[in-house]
Amino acid sequence: MPPANPFDDDKLREECGVFGAIGFEDAANFVALGLHALQHRGQEAGGIVSHDMEHGFNSARRFGYVRDNFTKAPLMQTLPGPIAIGHVRYSTAGSKGNTQIRDVQPFFGEFAMGGAAIAHNGNITNAAALRRELVERGSIFQSSSDSECIIHLMARSLQRDIPARMEDALRRVEGAFSIVAMTRTKLIGVRDPLGVRPLVLGKLGDGWALSSETCALDIIGAEFVREIAPGEMVVITKDGVESRQPFRSKKSRFCIFEHVYFSRPDSILGGRSVYETREAIGRELAKEAPVEADLVCPVPDSGTPAAIGFSLASGIPYAMGIIRNQYMGRTFIEPTEQIRNMGVRLKLNVNRALIKGKRVILVDDSVVRGTTSRKIKEMILDAGAKEVHFRIASPPTAWPCFYGVDTPERSKLLAATMSADEMSSYLGVDSLKFISLDGLYRAVGESKGRNAECPQYCDACFSGEYPVEPSDMIESGFEMKAAE
Ligand code: SF4
Repeated sequence: MPPANPFDDDKLREECGVFGAIGFEDAANFVALGLHALQHRGQEAGGIVSHDMEHGFNSARRFGYVRDNFTKAPLMQTLPGPIAIGHVRYSTAGSKGNTQIRDVQPFFGEFAMGGAAIAHNGNITNAAALRRELVERGSIFQSSSDSECIIHLMARSLQRDIPARMEDALRRVEGAFSIVAMTRTKLIGVRDPLGVRPLVLGKLGDGWALSSETCALDIIGAEFVREIAPGEMVVITKDGVESRQPFRSKKSRFCIFEHVYFSRPDSILGGRSVYETREAIGRELAKEAPVEADLVCPVPDSGTPAAIGFSLASGIPYAMGIIRNQYMGRTFIEPTEQIRNMGVRLKLNVNRALIKGKRVILVDDSVVRGTTSRKIKEMILDAGAKEVHFRIASPPTAWPCFYGVDTPERSKLLAATMSADEMSSYLGVDSLKFISLDGLYRAVGESKGRNAECPQYCDACFSGEYPVEPSDMIESGFEMKAAE
């Protein structure tokens, strides 16, 4: 399946969101609402599994948006019961551009002690090696998804209950994963030992919810209780929440890009509002890379809080110089090559009256391939801007992510082959500056910046320092950064 539109091809894309609920009448309805709030983490497909005592496990998996599928009464009536989990996906490494419905999570496994369904956000970096081993030992895979490895590893465990089998399985798995899983009576949540991807716990009445982000707790009216800790497993039943520690303790390496772009600005991460962090990034950027100009404009929507921060710190007025068409969907873009080539113009339009004759600072969250930035620059100049200065709320993205984020291969990343000055000439702008890695760390609350000996976050897409070795990728030829 092609990207939703050409504009989307020039962003890093979070690949999944997960949500689980227990202790509600028709928990699947809460899961559908939660997934709707997490739709920005994956628009390609979604799935929900529920359990009720009369029918057992029930499952529905569909391509497309949550609102187009999981709002319809005939479908939701097939998902009864007090416990449910769900998943939205962009696309996973196994089937990019060629998703089959069998690759859509949650996955289900039937074990001697009962069934279990599982959904995960992230990426298993040794999935190919595990899959080879499991196939050699007789496992029959039904999908191309990494997550199915976990089900097969659980099937081979000798433990007597499902959470213990999951602990066994996950000890073999490397990479970044936030998991929601369920049995007939238990909702289970797990974060990988480094806590790369987010997972939070919420409470509503006697019910509990697990979610990739707090914004999805808000939509169901649940109170945000806490983040699941890196390396923690929670097993939730009608009696409450039991916390387990299946892994050896490690220092957290949460994905710093969640602060910059992936998470919704109304979510809370690490006790801080994502919106406020992004505004702080803009302030830091204004300090690090000042420039004389008449207007600060965001590249909508993700550049908005950083542009506001830049404007507040610099005293340069903020303006909506580019307007986004909120209703640009997949269906409109598909018909002809000619329409597809209109690209960015279908989604973004310049507010000419504001721009004409002005020196404009454009604030964006990142530069990936640079194709969108070039087109936006042309649109701004066509509208009569005198100067165009790009300020970017993340450091140059020079390395691919192997932890559940869709990134082009390294050679397609502009920053992998060009210096900042070369990128500035390539984009044809008057200036281009990125926030420094230390500046980004300061903006997310690390007042002393990045600890080079022991970085507080995962920042591999900027630094090339991967906290978990991407062993499958190395085996298939990826070259890690040489030691300095
Ligand atoms: S490589 Fe970048 S996008 Fe991927 S987990 Fe690390 S910080 Fe996040």
